[in-house]
Amino acid sequence: MNIVKVMKFGGTSVGSPERMKALIPLITDADRKVVVLSAMSGTTNSLIEITDLIYSGNINEASDKIEALREKYHRVVDGLYDTDAFKMTGHEFINSHFGYINNLTLRSFTRIQEKAVHAEGELLSTSLFHHLLQERGIKSVLMPALNYMRIDKDSEPDYYYIEENIRRELRKADSKSIIITQGFICRNAYGEIDNLKRGGSDYSASIIGAVLKVKEIQIWTDISGFHNNDPRYVENTKVIRELSFDEAAELAYFGAKILHPSSVNPARVNNIPVRLKNTMEPEDEGTLITSNSVLLDYKAVAAKDGISAIRIRSARMLMAYGFLRKVFEIFEAYKTPIDMVTTSEVGVSLTIDNSQYLDQIVTDLRELGAVDIEREQTIICIVGDFRTERTGSAPEIFEALNTIPLKMISYGGSPNSLSLLIDTCNKTRALQLLSKHLFE
Ligand code: ADP
Ligand code: ASP
Ligand code: MG
Repeated sequence: MNIVKVMKFGGTSVGSPERMKALIPLITDADRKVVVLSAMSGTTNSLIEITDLIYSGNINEASDKIEALREKYHRVVDGLYDTDAFKMTGHEFINSHFGYINNLTLRSFTRIQEKAVHAEGELLSTSLFHHLLQERGIKSVLMPALNYMRIDKDSEPDYYYIEENIRRELRKADSKSIIITQGFICRNAYGEIDNLKRGGSDYSASIIGAVLKVKEIQIWTDISGFHNNDPRYVENTKVIRELSFDEAAELAYFGAKILHPSSVNPARVNNIPVRLKNTMEPEDEGTLITSNSVLLDYKAVAAKDGISAIRIRSARMLMAYGFLRKVFEIFEAYKTPIDMVTTSEVGVSLTIDNSQYLDQIVTDLRELGAVDIEREQTIICIVGDFRTERTGSAPEIFEALNTIPLKMISYGGSPNSLSLLIDTCNKTRALQLLSKHLFE
């Protein structure tokens, strides 16, 4: 029997024994499905704190944090299972995993051990949930993501490998069972444990859905769908019932935390609808993302922090060809993607979100002209109807933001978005002003 849907539940949705139990009615319909789980909320953050402490030589503090996390998981086991037998197995399971974490931290610590520690959150949540289903007599199998999910040397999903291996894993599973698997975690091109970056369980769900050609990919979270602005900074945001793949991809890429930045693409390429749902309000229809596009002047706003702006000024650019190629080649050499670009007669400005190689990039760019850098910048992305043939689509945006310095403007690159660069210190105010002027 083919897999009909993928259901991904995020950190809050598995964040307590009560929340895990509340998932059971959501996953026990007749459809054959893969259930992708994140780590319990807070766990990945704690694991990252632990590995940061180990790196900085604070082993005692790291051990204390490991113990505190172990205690938390013993309490989860007590609240999750009814029978003594399952409680006992659960406590033994927690002890064996935390014994392993402790062991990893004793050895010489490298990026390989670090990633293995970060993977523990999803390994714990999926096993705990699988045992809960077993205790309730619901048929389920645990399909280890580390047996099929893999990224290549460029950190892109290795689709050929994933498809071969997930199909092999599925052949092992009884056709009536619910298949549970870990989001976020994978192996890399060297076979080591790795991950799909923060928030990566959405991406896992979308990759699995694409490979298995399911009918729908469902992302279950703690809010009823995609809102028209970031609810963490703006009050009275409203849910958008329908989004196109392109619109959702731009919003996710430009900071809407509800979706991992790369997670729309596998669904878009395979034309598989993505539905965003709220585990706390399962009857709410949420948001449906498809290839359908319903045009609206303004649909939603998102913001992406951690941006650096780079400005290159050069007299040599005047009337020259080939200058931009030389600039872009430098970024390519350091595998650093560029987000926004604007050019003038005498210079080019661009933005990056990965500043790992910024110093080297600047040194190379200085061969071409004068370079200056501005850090702590934010890209604001406004999604709506920005087709180049229409008139009058942007005045409300500039009116809304007339008290905020705009550092760069990108228009015409996409028919559904306009992006602006501002100082991060102005972000909250900019998002609030845009909501007031565009949506109220
Ligand atoms: P999960 O753990 O389920 O993956 P996340 O915390 O990653 O959940 O994503 C859901 C959160 O994304 C929401 O609680 C909300 O605060 C935040 N968010 C940011 N922008 C938006 C948006 N445009 N629409 C909905 N939620 C958003
Ligand atoms: N647990 C991972 C994180 O916190 C992945 C996810 O939740 O999607 O980033
Ligand atoms: Mg998330």
